[in-house]
Amino acid sequence: MTPKIALEEHFIHPDFLDYFATTAVNISPALFGKAREALMDFGARRLEAMDRIGVRKAVLSLAGPGVQVERRVDTALRRAREVNDFLAEQIARRPDRYGGFAHLAVQDPRAAADELERCVRELGMQGAMINGQTGGMYLDDDRCSPLWERAADLGAPIYLHPGNPPERVAMYHDHPELWGPLWSWTVETATHALRLITAGVFDRFPGAKLILGHMGETLPFLLWRLDSRWEICNRGEMRLASPPSAYLRRNVWVTTSGVCDNPPLRCAIDALGRDRVMFSVDYPFERPEEAGAWIEAAPLDGDERRLVCHDNAAALMGLGDATGAQG
Ligand code: MN
Repeated sequence: MTPKIALEEHFIHPDFLDYFATTAVNISPALFGKAREALMDFGARRLEAMDRIGVRKAVLSLAGPGVQVERRVDTALRRAREVNDFLAEQIARRPDRYGGFAHLAVQDPRAAADELERCVRELGMQGAMINGQTGGMYLDDDRCSPLWERAADLGAPIYLHPGNPPERVAMYHDHPELWGPLWSWTVETATHALRLITAGVFDRFPGAKLILGHMGETLPFLLWRLDSRWEICNRGEMRLASPPSAYLRRNVWVTTSGVCDNPPLRCAIDALGRDRVMFSVDYPFERPEEAGAWIEAAPLDGDERRLVCHDNAAALMGLGDATGAQG
């Protein structure tokens, strides 16, 4: 079994179930109930699920949207700190098996930058996970520049996890099935990533690192068209130093979370590069056994499999010796 690091592996704290419940509309009640118990476990249940598929280390993140839907900014900041301290305690019990992505109150990007720094420097976390827009503010907003600047300085990746848009637009009317993980999350998250690119965030912060789940939220499939249309649309005020594909190849990493399928895996590797794709499960919302069996049999050469399963994540987050490839 190829040693693995997994990066979209969720937990929840009981005090955060109210925030989590706001996404219940996207998840069947049965799955929600089952997921709750798995999300709160940091012991045998989670570790055995990891062991069965060779996950040496899981970088844990709060099941979204967390405090990003909190209306009071001071409450959001305080509760984000609390849940990061809670996660740090869980990591400290099994530092060999767990890492963490900080949870941030993006409502106050400058304070969120400070909290990211605290989580990385003092609590030993690997970066942050952000669950889409916050009160209608997307991460390309100028107010978020301090957060990108700090993340780039720290070398800490930001994992952009799907969330709902601020309003339900007309194209989803009478189609509740398309609202959520089936489709609207993909559109929302891919658009959010493109906003970062076209707003010039990666020109201003060339060292910023963005992680996208779900095999890149369809973007690896679109590089040529993005570049081709950009040449025509890129007039007037909108100027980028490079075509969109350059940022997708330079500033973006993708995970296999929730996509156990060979054609999109090959597309992501061929489009972005073999050092840009990283194994993940999306525990407990996806089945670890399915993800593990799939990646072991996927059409990759030996080097690619080792890079995707382990080494790319280790290199991105400086987890090299902590997880080891021994045995
Ligand atoms: Mn997820």
